[in-house]
Amino acid sequence: MIKAKGYAAQSSGSKLEPWEFDRRTIGTRDVLIQILFCGVCHTDLHMVNSDWGPGTFPMVPGHEIVGRIIETGKEVSKFKIGDHAGVGVMVDSCGTCPDCQAHQEQFCSVSPVQTYGSKGYDGLTTYGGYSNVIVVDEKFTHLISDKLNLAATAPLLCAGITTYSPLKKWKVGKGHQLAVVGLGGLGHMAVKFGIALGAEVTVLSTSETKREDAKALGAHHFVVTTDVEELATVKSKFDFILDTVSAKHDLNLYITLLKTDGVHICVGIPNEPFSLSPFSLPNGNKVVAGSGAGGLSETQEMLDFCAAHDIVSEIELIDIKEIHPAFDRMIKGHVRYRFVIDLSTLR
Ligand code: NAP
Repeated sequence: MIKAKGYAAQSSGSKLEPWEFDRRTIGTRDVLIQILFCGVCHTDLHMVNSDWGPGTFPMVPGHEIVGRIIETGKEVSKFKIGDHAGVGVMVDSCGTCPDCQAHQEQFCSVSPVQTYGSKGYDGLTTYGGYSNVIVVDEKFTHLISDKLNLAATAPLLCAGITTYSPLKKWKVGKGHQLAVVGLGGLGHMAVKFGIALGAEVTVLSTSETKREDAKALGAHHFVVTTDVEELATVKSKFDFILDTVSAKHDLNLYITLLKTDGVHICVGIPNEPFSLSPFSLPNGNKVVAGSGAGGLSETQEMLDFCAAHDIVSEIELIDIKEIHPAFDRMIKGHVRYRFVIDLSTLR
């Protein structure tokens, strides 16, 4: 086994504290990554608090991992020592089910092995990126271009792919009106991708204080959703709405902002069920869709797209000891726009 250290919650809702644990020994197709940076996704907070059901503890969160390859198994062909590499939301899958065959490993019907809080096919619990090293099968490890700023690339491994994937699936681009609901970690990446794909982008936010930021990110329009009059100006405007909101909100309200045949895509995962009026969808043939992360090949495609279009996340780099104030600011919607942990602060 390989000795690792990180920050873990020992039980549901408890504070993250320093913890030492074992990673598996490097297998023939594994790489050992020295973790340099890890993004702080709202999912980490949901998971630590068991918002979506009982979690596995101790829990080391973190699924926006970037670092440097420091050792390779004998059969590794994609990486050499010193390469920059990234790991996202999953570290294994069965490889043979229809979803795996269709490159949608995140939906593996046997069991996608999540980067943390999951049981691997080897029976070991997985621990995430709020730590110094990780051992991962090279298949689940992504190449990161030297062109990309490494710290600002970390959030692409989850916030990036989770917003890129639905925009590609629904072929969002030139001639489309796209609204992004919630300007946080996922939302600000959705704005960047929407613009790069040629859509006209409107940010729908609860925070007036983000108006200037939205403009600086390149958004064409900004609407404060709590301002009834301002909201009325975008009624029936959008072809697509990408909803990244992490807390309870009223879908019916947003659906009125779609054109006929418009699509509301949910990527945010609040911890309470949505409630839909029976009239919301038939009136205008509206569609409510969902999207979960993205497969391995699409994640690499997204990273390559980012390198080609000079896209990274807007980040606040933090010391790992600042994780709780960061969580608190995330709950208040104050993150600008993704916290990234500098793992050198762990050593
Ligand atoms: P985040 O950085 O905290 O951003 C969420 C944003 O939602 C906030 O900045 C805020 O934006 C808005 N918001 C918060 N509470 C709201 C409320 N009550 N009503 C309306 N808007 C509200 O979170 P994130 O990391 O982007 O994650 C967003 C959600 O996506 C989380 O639930 C996370 O678990 C989920 N997620 C899903 C996937 C997937 O595969 N589908 C992957 C990763 C994350 P404004 O201030 O602009 O209103």
